[in-house]
Amino acid sequence: MKKVKLGIIGCGIAARELHLPALRKLQDKFEITMLCNHTEQKARDLSEQLGRVPYVLDYRELLESSEVEAVDIALPIHLNFKVAKDSLLKGKHVFVEKPVTANLREARKILSQSEASDLVMLVAENFRYRKVYLRAKELMKKGKIGKPYAAMWDLFNQVTLNSKYAKTKWRQHPKYPGAFVSDGGVHNVAALRMLFGEFTSVKAFTKSINPKIGSPDTMSLQFRSQSGVDGVFNIFYSVDGYWENRLLIFGSRGSIIIQENKLMLKNNSEDDYIEEVEDDNGYIAEFTDFYNGIRKKKKVLSTPHEGLKDLEVIIAALKSAESNRSVSLTH
Ligand code: NAP
Repeated sequence: MKKVKLGIIGCGIAARELHLPALRKLQDKFEITMLCNHTEQKARDLSEQLGRVPYVLDYRELLESSEVEAVDIALPIHLNFKVAKDSLLKGKHVFVEKPVTANLREARKILSQSEASDLVMLVAENFRYRKVYLRAKELMKKGKIGKPYAAMWDLFNQVTLNSKYAKTKWRQHPKYPGAFVSDGGVHNVAALRMLFGEFTSVKAFTKSINPKIGSPDTMSLQFRSQSGVDGVFNIFYSVDGYWENRLLIFGSRGSIIIQENKLMLKNNSEDDYIEEVEDDNGYIAEFTDFYNGIRKKKKVLSTPHEGLKDLEVIIAALKSAESNRSVSLTH
């Protein structure tokens, strides 16, 4: 099957450090035919790294090229909508980084536009493809912990201005709601929705501990889900002195504990089951899904609809924090 001719728009951290390693492993599926970055140095550097792939400074020029049939959009979040919209209009398949857009109005518009086209659009929410969460889902489906009833996810971290992510100006002064808690938290929401189905209501508080990295940087979210799993998700990006990333899932006959790529299954009648799940955080799987969507006409897992649903939860949580009330989600 023919390789997909891919144009990369945005030659920053995600494109260079997350997408490129996956694309290098998928050279039988993708050929990078053009690059775009509005400032030349980054475009030139990546071009050199890739053996002088042509580059442009204006993405509209890339969209005119017949050498590009699909785009990989890795831009500041507030640009996702416009660039995805223009790409679809120019007949390009779209792989766009998460969150799908900066707000719900844009997310609904891009969903309609992509559904009205015969092009593939994939929201690059890599947590939907991470093997450790897919494995937890499989174990729950097999009944290994009985009926799941609660979940707790603690993500405690310290992001300072030394972090490469916090150094990006668009994160320090976000043109989208929720700053780091939406940029990062949308990943966890995607995984929680995949594991437990749609959220029916949320109650949250947010804080800004270190406004220099963008505000807010701290959120505690309580949720109820359609499947009957209730939970708490704490995402704290300015924790000094302690680090944690642990998801606990409680069921009527056991518990699952996930720490990074390590999964543990515990109950009182059997020995603990521990598995280290090999994973590249889902980047290869999401590009493979994109390729199969284009070449094999398979429905992709991470659709704009899923991206919209993830964003709805984040926006509802921010609304709850602002109003100090719980917010219902309708489906
Ligand atoms: P970044 O390093 O700032 O990369 C964005 C790039 O876009 C920069 O090189 C920037 O150039 C360029 N750019 C800005 N405006 C442009 C325009 N109008 N036309 C062309 N290029 C333009 O940010 P990032 O960390 O890579 O994040 C990019 C996206 O990836 C975001 O959606 C983020 O949420 C996502 N992301 C996902 C993950 C994941 O695990 N899935 C991880 C990190 C990021 P300048 O820097 O020169 O302005």
